[in-house]
Amino acid sequence: MDAELTRAAELTMAAAAQAPIYLDYAATTPVGPRVAQRMSEVLAMPLGNAASAHAPGRRAYALVEAARAQVAQLIGTAAEHIVFTSGATEANNLAVAGTVRLALARAAKSRAPVPHVITLATEHKSVLEPVRALQSQGANVSILEPRADGLLDPAALASALRPETALVSLLHVNNETGVAQDVAALAALCAQRNVPLHIDACQSAGKLPLSIEGVALLSITAHKIGGPQGIGALYIAPAHRGRIAAQMLGGAHERGLRAGTLAVHQITGFGLAAELAAAARATESVRIAALRDKLWQGLKDLPGVLLNGHATARAPHILNVTFPGVEGESLFTALPDLALSTGSACNSRSAEPSFVLRALGRDSELAQSSLRFSLGRGTTEAEVDAAIAAVRRAHAVLWNLSPARGVASASPAPAATATQALCGEAGAQRLGTWIRFVIEVEDTTVREARLQVYGCPHTIAACNHVRQHLPGRRLDALQPGSPEQWRQAVNAPVEKLGRMLIIEDALASIVRAR
Ligand code: PLP
Repeated sequence: MDAELTRAAELTMAAAAQAPIYLDYAATTPVGPRVAQRMSEVLAMPLGNAASAHAPGRRAYALVEAARAQVAQLIGTAAEHIVFTSGATEANNLAVAGTVRLALARAAKSRAPVPHVITLATEHKSVLEPVRALQSQGANVSILEPRADGLLDPAALASALRPETALVSLLHVNNETGVAQDVAALAALCAQRNVPLHIDACQSAGKLPLSIEGVALLSITAHKIGGPQGIGALYIAPAHRGRIAAQMLGGAHERGLRAGTLAVHQITGFGLAAELAAAARATESVRIAALRDKLWQGLKDLPGVLLNGHATARAPHILNVTFPGVEGESLFTALPDLALSTGSACNSRSAEPSFVLRALGRDSELAQSSLRFSLGRGTTEAEVDAAIAAVRRAHAVLWNLSPARGVASASPAPAATATQALCGEAGAQRLGTWIRFVIEVEDTTVREARLQVYGCPHTIAACNHVRQHLPGRRLDALQPGSPEQWRQAVNAPVEKLGRMLIIEDALASIVRAR
């Protein structure tokens, strides 16, 4: 048994040694060991339903209330203003739909002007989608554009506010770029006009100082601060209590604002995570900001590289970088040792560029060539060094193939020479695929073939496959196989056949240009 355990420990350590470097803390953070320990203790306790009046129920209730106080402390409020939810998605939906639906119902009854909602184009979808749904239910909506640095211009907010504005909903820290809005200034504007302000503070809790001054509603979630997934909270200011309606119905839990049995172990984990995050915030945010700056210093000299978002108004843990001329999915795929996010949800069916980066003025191509690095409690200097080295290595390979490298196109050699260079290209970088073959031809036989390509990993692999088969071929039978055969040779999904046809076009254009 001991030998088995040793072997299991060795295997676990080997797996851990091979695990990618985790740089996706903005997506979720690992549960802290003390939090995990506390949660399993709670799971093993003989607890009842926190809504029950008997002793096991009262024990559960006491644990919930202790955690409520810990969560409240993280944002500088009293426990009674905290409503537990299943996460920030639900907290945001409750804040936005709960406020505006009630305002719509009241306006319809009293024939008051139609309620109006303001938000920013770079918000999290858990705000944007409820806001769009409210628009289809009759609310008037203003979706403001941020400045190119990601900040909301206070003057733009001031001029969008109307007497009938029922809610302004804004992110404190943007989850893609790390840009931090000046909440105090924006809250003061809303307060002057008596308009409630909702802040999504998921990415700033435990990273930046938080204040609820002038804020009506504030969302947070446990899994961004070392707590468990599936639990979050909404702060509701006392003055906003009568202006919000429950969205989850079916019981009087959470003072009638969110029905459902409370998940005691989740809530306890959230409470402890909040306490630990508050205690570590000041020192950890300095340490993490230094690592983020080191990461940027290690990348910023790569050709054309761009930092996304304001250079200083930002949270310590997020760095979003654009690598022009390098296709995003290819860069992402070339970094298997890093667990991070790309701005693009690049799969074969949809290659949607990040709407957040697009709103900051990056074109689709640049938005797609971007990576979000996010750092956290476990990030070390050695990991940052390794990440810099990995990105530089992957970038060098792709940059060598990139059209942005600016290699002069091959021009045909004089007819009298036996060797000539011919080139053919097809596609367009802005459409996601651009391919250029350059071949050295002696008499009519290919001696050597070179390649430049901007495209997804499958396209690059297929181009390379074709390039390797060009030497020795005659110009009148240049094409080695068919697009379908190339697709199969590199195991590309059938949706990529269109890109194989671009390879065929590039080859055909060599012969046409002759
Ligand atoms: N808001 C922001 C800014 C986020 O980053 C996230 C997490 O992805 C959410 C809301 C949603 O949080 P949850 O996963 O707890 O529903």
